[in-house]
Amino acid sequence: MIPLNTNLDGLTYSAIRRFTNLAKQTPGCAMLTLGEPDFATPPEIVRAGMEALRQGRTHYAPNWGTDELRQDIAAFETARGMPCDPSQVLVTAGATGALFTLLLGVLNPGDEVIIPTPAFSLYESIVTVAGARSVFLDTTPGGYQIPREELERRITDRTKAIIINSPNNPTGCIYSRESLMAVRDLALKHGFYVVCDNVYSQLSYGPCPDLTLCGELREQLFLCQSFSKPYAMTGWRVGYLIGPGKIMERLLLLHAAELACVPTFVQDACRVALKTDVSAMRESYRVRRGYVCRRLEEMGLPFTEPMGAFYVFPQISQFGLPDEDFCTRSIREGGVAVTPGTCFRGEGHIRISYCYSPEELETSLNRLEQFIHTL
Ligand code: PMP
Repeated sequence: MIPLNTNLDGLTYSAIRRFTNLAKQTPGCAMLTLGEPDFATPPEIVRAGMEALRQGRTHYAPNWGTDELRQDIAAFETARGMPCDPSQVLVTAGATGALFTLLLGVLNPGDEVIIPTPAFSLYESIVTVAGARSVFLDTTPGGYQIPREELERRITDRTKAIIINSPNNPTGCIYSRESLMAVRDLALKHGFYVVCDNVYSQLSYGPCPDLTLCGELREQLFLCQSFSKPYAMTGWRVGYLIGPGKIMERLLLLHAAELACVPTFVQDACRVALKTDVSAMRESYRVRRGYVCRRLEEMGLPFTEPMGAFYVFPQISQFGLPDEDFCTRSIREGGVAVTPGTCFRGEGHIRISYCYSPEELETSLNRLEQFIHTL
């Protein structure tokens, strides 16, 4: 084979999809692996998309996104407490597109990006593609919070950015004010970017401190947001990136080279999404969280109570099995699929996604309980 870009050597197939595929190939296997809402996209959003198609909104949109959607997003974020102008908003192909454009746009080979772990593996993949280096900070010992001294110890003159994700995938935890203040202080002191992946911010079950509300960081902070999770729109592939205006103008050129634009009719539907009340979906996740946590307690699996997103991250190292083996066996012998913590650099744990129906959750957790009794 004629050689490829060597940065691709560091990429592996998403283990979440790998385990989901293994589960699908195993007849009758129940699943707790997928991180996507089981709800249909709310009908008013679907109607708006269909109406836009009917009206012929099927041509290229501006590279930035439509003026209307950018205005609505800026108003939405400003009302949430992050004052911004429509000119700072770039509409992207999901938060994935936002992260890709941002990281590829700011990273040079050899730059370092601090990633508190456990973390969504996409960050590490993009950093690898950019030829930069991920520097991990394991938050497990501190109950999934960011200790100031540990963070400071990882900062070098190559540190370009930190990526924070709260509520977090896979732990469901929310960073405390203290964790975020450590990030803020050190980012200001050492001059690196703060990337807030807030895709679960509308799915938090209590107060969620948020660095995007911190005015002092305005010139070095980016918000990556998605329509996927709050509005059950994973397949629509739309999100956005907000950051300092001058930098956004440069990132637009990369986004235009990579995607040109997000489909026009999709953006029309997103305007309706921004007006949609997601509290009923959130309440439903809250109830499921309560059920899953109760069951895990009964099974004696230790975990930190999730305060957002739709995941729980219990510890399974007490069974003396590497988490990947635990998950392979739970599919083959227990008939239930969960995701190994290793996928998130959270060894010795499993990620349980609870965006499944109450009946599916009951069946799956019964199976998990039976399976761990056999270990
Ligand atoms: N960030 C996190 C933390 C996620 O969990 C996901 C999806 N699983 C994404 C970003 C990407 O979301 P999307 O591209 O669908 O907007």
